[in-house]
Amino acid sequence: MAEKKKQFAVIGLGRFGGSVCKELYRMGHQVLAIDNNDTKVNEFASHSTHAVIANATDEKSLQSLGIRNFEYVIVAIGDDIQSSILTTLVLKEMEVENVWVKAQNVYHHKVLDKIGADRIIHPEQDMGIRIAQHIVSEKIVDYIELSDEYSIVELLGTRKIHNSTLIDLDVRAKFGCTILAIKRGEDINVSPMPDDTIYEKDILIVIGHKADLKRFEEEGM
Ligand code: ADP
Repeated sequence: MAEKKKQFAVIGLGRFGGSVCKELYRMGHQVLAIDNNDTKVNEFASHSTHAVIANATDEKSLQSLGIRNFEYVIVAIGDDIQSSILTTLVLKEMEVENVWVKAQNVYHHKVLDKIGADRIIHPEQDMGIRIAQHIVSEKIVDYIELSDEYSIVELLGTRKIHNSTLIDLDVRAKFGCTILAIKRGEDINVSPMPDDTIYEKDILIVIGHKADLKRFEEEGM
């Protein structure tokens, strides 16, 4: 079954917001791109479903864009913290369900948290953690921290596990973590069967306790 397409709006088309917008649109989602700078808006006309010039702190402008019908609104206004906060406040007052906001610093984060931002993102820090993980282990392709204890990691299949089935690896019994999916090139197997075979350079998407994941990565593959 085809994945249901979601409706997104991205406010602020700087480096971060611009990348989010382009990627969502590339994935085939509906994306409304908003910025108060006409040059930015022109630049994103071909990287979004619709690109408009608007000041996001102005409630009426947001209303006329029908922003409350969007499932997700990403606020990626950079240095202008005041505009970021005001925009977030307006969006939450309009009862937009998922408002994701880029934070510049801890004070900004605190305010966003208080006014109801649903998710607060620190792109530089998050990327820093991922790069560090990748440098430390060449096997770790990507890393998502779910909580202080649990993570999802993408691990690059090694020669050691080439041609093994999930039964051979027995990851759950031996390491207490679970292989959620196997990526091979463009293909992704999201419900791997016990007798599915893993090859070198496949990417294993594994969920578990951080200590268990580390053990699997260091000893199991
Ligand atoms: P980054 O650090 O991600 O590159 P920037 O600060 O460069 O972020 O980009 C933020 C974008 O947000 C700019 O393109 C800017 O024009 C836009 N922006 C700032 N204030 C508003 C506002 N009130 N309404 C809409 N867009 C805004």
